[in-house]
Amino acid sequence: MCNNVNIETQLRRFIRHYTETINLEKFIFLNRNVKYDKLSIDWAVTFEYLKEKEKALTTSFWTSKKRRKKIQRIIEEIPTIEQCKKSNFDIYKNWKCVRCGRKRETFHHVWLCNSENKKMKKIIKDAFDLMVNEIKSIDKYTLDEGNFYDYVWNETFSKLFYSKTQFTFIDIIKGIFPLGLTEYLTLKVKMNLKDRNTISVLFLDFIYDETKLIWYERCNRQIEKEKKLRINRKRKFMRNKSINGRLEDRRLPIRNPKIKAEGLLRGIYFNQKTLDFIIHVILIISY
Ligand SMILES: [Zn+2]
Repeated sequence: MCNNVNIETQLRRFIRHYTETINLEKFIFLNRNVKYDKLSIDWAVTFEYLKEKEKALTTSFWTSKKRRKKIQRIIEEIPTIEQCKKSNFDIYKNWKCVRCGRKRETFHHVWLCNSENKKMKKIIKDAFDLMVNEIKSIDKYTLDEGNFYDYVWNETFSKLFYSKTQFTFIDIIKGIFPLGLTEYLTLKVKMNLKDRNTISVLFLDFIYDETKLIWYERCNRQIEKEKKLRINRKRKFMRNKSINGRLEDRRLPIRNPKIKAEGLLRGIYFNQKTLDFIIHVILIISY
């Protein structure tokens, strides 16, 4: 029983659903996700992309590693210089982006650095071309390419810039999918849910793989620089210990500390889908 209501599903499945709901609520209510309250996001596509096509009972080392990397991105916690300052401030305090040598290297700068401008523009173009080609390869759909590209290039989600309020291409790099694009594919191209989800996840995965190369190259340059300056793991650890004395609290701040799997209870009482309910709550609290 849960809240005095009989649960009719298997216990194991119920507990899994419960944990998933708690995690989802925690994630959506993270302070850093406040931007997404007011934007229209297709969370279903994003979570499908994060799942890495994994079946419930198998977990391979490879997929879990990739999934971890994807999650690191969505919470903007890849080890940039600014991120490293949190644990090794004395080593990194004056360090700038290793590629341009001028700007602070935040999560956004990794993709906005002038040195990568050409490559990033190509990735954006290739990603939307891939989507077009995938749709065209399915006979039952007709796509007005001109209209599609007009729509896409006019929207902020196809543009590379940092914004606290607008949906930009950096959000797509994080794995977040714009609901506007979903609506376009549903209403204008008349795609069914299954095909639309498959192509949308393919699109996000393509962007993940292409931008991963940019991050790898940056990491190689960073490693070279650290080798020259003889900064190794041991030194990072020693310095860290001596300065901070203790490990900092790594938990991310949450806006709503009273998370109680509300979405799951809704499912039990009213047969409502968990994700639908959580999105409904976000809409209410943000307007
Ligand atoms: Zn730079």
